[in-house]
Amino acid sequence: MTLAEIINIHEKPLLELVFEAAKVHRLHHNPQEVQVSTLLSIKTGGCPEDCAYCPQAARYHTDVEAEAMMTLEDVKKSALVAKANGSSRLCMGAAWRNIEDGEDFDQVLEMVKTVNALDMEVCCTLGMMTEMQAKKLRQAGLYAYNHNIDSSNDFYKEIISTRTFDDRLKTIENARKADLTVCSGGIIGMGESVEDRCAMLLTLSQMDPQPESVPINGLVAVKGTPLEDQNQIPIWDMIRMVATARIVMPNTAVRLSAGRAGMTIEGQALCFMAGANSIFAGDKLLTTPNPSRNADMEMFEILGLHPMESFAKGDRPADVKYVYSEQTDTSKAVWERPKHRLERNVEYAKLGKKSRNEADTFKQ
Ligand code: SF4
Repeated sequence: MTLAEIINIHEKPLLELVFEAAKVHRLHHNPQEVQVSTLLSIKTGGCPEDCAYCPQAARYHTDVEAEAMMTLEDVKKSALVAKANGSSRLCMGAAWRNIEDGEDFDQVLEMVKTVNALDMEVCCTLGMMTEMQAKKLRQAGLYAYNHNIDSSNDFYKEIISTRTFDDRLKTIENARKADLTVCSGGIIGMGESVEDRCAMLLTLSQMDPQPESVPINGLVAVKGTPLEDQNQIPIWDMIRMVATARIVMPNTAVRLSAGRAGMTIEGQALCFMAGANSIFAGDKLLTTPNPSRNADMEMFEILGLHPMESFAKGDRPADVKYVYSEQTDTSKAVWERPKHRLERNVEYAKLGKKSRNEADTFKQ
């Protein structure tokens, strides 16, 4: 599809769009099944990047404190709780720019092995990754790698100035080279245009194969980040985005992600009708609020939905053994630094040295 065609779909009369997306959804998925994933922050805060939406960026003045990496034992406990609560997938996130080889990465590999042994789909989101690192993760039992492209190539430059859109795509390619499934989506409500939203869907839909999972996040504007004053997106924008994603990527699991805490059950019902078939469960999504498990189970009951089993979309991948050498790592390990400067991000980083009240006074 072209960008114009995707915009055309996105701009259809809303109910017409939902109806079309629902038809596509029923052709490719069981509409009563929803994949439930738990997102676990194994290393919170202290991130060197400048993503304008993120409270984990060390440079901004938010309430998120940097924490040490979780222990293997705690990760196992969390995974068991998530599994007992109906999650088929555990996604472990670390607030890193990219994976660095060494002790921390070795610890993550142990975490992946441990969760994989619990018969859960294991996903990681650890920043940029080389082909060799992807293969090490795959060998440890990783099932999916999350690396969001966030927005369109053009709008990305207005949100982040510490890494390039192309390096995001490169990481996704590296995940594919290691035979990992890909989870990649973005955020709406950051001030982007409809064209940016559709361009993001175009980039995702042109990947070959298309991502197995596409999270659609509604921005949660966190105090202290450069996007703290963005308004919550209307539910209709989320429904349009979900429906368009479903039509352009029929086989993908379209995931309702951040921003769900601000949605009503009725709003989420329309998203499920429009083709969403995955959610993140748990009271927190990394550092932002999420509906409680009880609220989600009540919603499933009302809507006649049930959680999907692990590996429901295909066989559990066979074990692999890679032989590593520096020569086999054809991907670059040095990631680019863009040359542009984002004044808003720079201002917020400076404000981080002052108290929150002083920052508010500054803005007035
Ligand atoms: S979104 Fe990820 S890379 Fe960006 S600042 Fe947050 S933790 Fe770091």
